[in-house]
Amino acid sequence: MTDRYAVIGNPIEQSKSPLIHTAFAQVTGQDIVYSKVLSPLGDFALTVDSFRAAGGRGMNVTAPFKLDAFAYATDLAPSAQLAGAVNAMKFEGDRVYAENFDGVGWVRDVVHNLSSPLKGRRILILGAGGATRGALLPLVDQEPALVVIVNRTVAKAQALSVLAQQHCRFPVQAMDYSDLQDLAFDVVLNATSASFASELPPLTTAAFAPGCLAYEMAYGKGLTPFLKLAQQAGVTHLADGVGMLAEQAAEAFAWWRGVRPDTAAVIAQLTIPLV
Ligand code: NDP
Repeated sequence: MTDRYAVIGNPIEQSKSPLIHTAFAQVTGQDIVYSKVLSPLGDFALTVDSFRAAGGRGMNVTAPFKLDAFAYATDLAPSAQLAGAVNAMKFEGDRVYAENFDGVGWVRDVVHNLSSPLKGRRILILGAGGATRGALLPLVDQEPALVVIVNRTVAKAQALSVLAQQHCRFPVQAMDYSDLQDLAFDVVLNATSASFASELPPLTTAAFAPGCLAYEMAYGKGLTPFLKLAQQAGVTHLADGVGMLAEQAAEAFAWWRGVRPDTAAVIAQLTIPLV
């Protein structure tokens, strides 16, 4: 019997998840159908209830419902607990198992697809929202030398660094952008949503060490103001979040179906050149 999965969000038209999971199903021979579900704001639980009642087996969760999914779940994985947000659910009887694969997707994209090891590296993360929270736990195994979180609202970065220090053996520091001064990093991750408004967080070219990887978590936007700044700093290793998107999807697919698809073909299909 064909198993049903979907991505839920509002808006949802823009989602690439059906394309990705349909491609994964084809290459792995899994009998699934994957659709988009537009949930009215405030009706997340009702919408998921009806998807489950119709036989749905699992869902990806996108904005603005990652916190609603956190509240809806019965069984939260550590990744979801630390992130305080859920991006994938699996339905088994009355249980709702919940995960957050965004962070593991980012780490896998950087280490595996971009061949940029994180061990011993100095990492700067811009932003202290859900995506940054999700990235912290998967970083634990990578043993970077240092993680600095900077945020416009510095109190959020401070709260995250306190939380992260309970799990990490390496220093996780919170800073204001103005505290960065001449500090330089081997990996700079833009995990803010500034690029959606074509804005640049108040960063200077000094943040990019020689040989740095500049990673824009948003995807499909070409050369964002953040990536342009990195280019001005002489950075040649630039990436956006398309690989992260594909890798978090592959993690969810493996969790649901027990087989992990290769991501190279969908990444190639979805990549928009950084020009
Ligand atoms: P949140 O809304 O949770 O957090 C947004 C963060 O951006 C906050 O820290 C906010 O600061 C900061 N911010 C917003 N505008 C500016 C600005 N102009 N200057 C400086 N800081 C700013 O978003 P998420 O964490 O969920 O997502 C962050 C990014 O990651 C988005 O671009 C999203 O698309 C991307 N993403 C990509 C995924 C992928 O698969 N590739 C998966 C998940 C997310 P403050 O706290 O001060 O408001």
